[in-house]
Amino acid sequence: MERRSFLKTGGLLAISQLTGMSTLNALQALGNQLKPTERMPALFVGHGNPMNAIENNIYHNTWQQIGSSLPKPKAILSISAHWLTPVTKVTVTAQPKTIHDFGGFPKKLFEQEYPAPGSPEFAALTKEIINESHVQSDENWGLDHGTWSVLLPMFPLADIPVYQLSIVYEMPTTYHYKIGQQLNKLRDKGVLIMGSGNIVHNLMEVDWNKTGKNYDWAIEFDTKMAEWISKGDHVSLQNYKKLLGKTADMAHPSNDHLLPLYYILGVQQKNEQIHYFNDSMDMGSISMRSFVVKA
Ligand code: ZN
Repeated sequence: MERRSFLKTGGLLAISQLTGMSTLNALQALGNQLKPTERMPALFVGHGNPMNAIENNIYHNTWQQIGSSLPKPKAILSISAHWLTPVTKVTVTAQPKTIHDFGGFPKKLFEQEYPAPGSPEFAALTKEIINESHVQSDENWGLDHGTWSVLLPMFPLADIPVYQLSIVYEMPTTYHYKIGQQLNKLRDKGVLIMGSGNIVHNLMEVDWNKTGKNYDWAIEFDTKMAEWISKGDHVSLQNYKKLLGKTADMAHPSNDHLLPLYYILGVQQKNEQIHYFNDSMDMGSISMRSFVVKA
């Protein structure tokens, strides 16, 4: 509720009556709640191979550096390519579990835990501000590897509350972009919004031998998307399929890993710039291109 309408409806009196607080104390409580915090940057992260969580490589090391360069958020909202649901959901648990949603990796990766608390409070607020869709509370999901594999190196203390918002895979890019626009106001309340996917993601064409060769279509798609991201051409980005045709189909046989991007484009404001990191291709067909959005 906006401050003005809250005061108009006599909310202050209601709070003091409900809680038994004096009107003065209720006024102070309201003031604290609405106190402006440092506006948080937003983040799109190409997560790629789950081993990046624990491997000493360029992606892992950059995530460590990014974590120490960001202001400490009050909470982190992650929109991961690995949580796809028929309706939009938000995790409301106080202690989300670490989900090891992959197979065929070393035991050490399965032993990793990211014991960050959840944030039922920010989850409730997130449900309230999204009017594009009815958002359901979820108590079953936890933190999937799209979230924890990045946060483990980025915020190793796991002391910042983390919650997730799911992706309705069937919906068009415009839908995800609109939800992103609605999430923007969370940034003024100290929430770091992170989209975790990949700008190019074709697992069938992955070069497991790591010969260092990248596919032409992968480079072409990544370059074009980066050009539009840098120019702030969100219309072309939302129409990527139509504009890039077969290249788009090769880059994303299914576009689950691209969809988190639209939430982060949605939160970007006119005065904010894009700061790229990890802008290289991994295993031929995975773009690790990531960026921070900030003024
Ligand atoms: Zn993934």
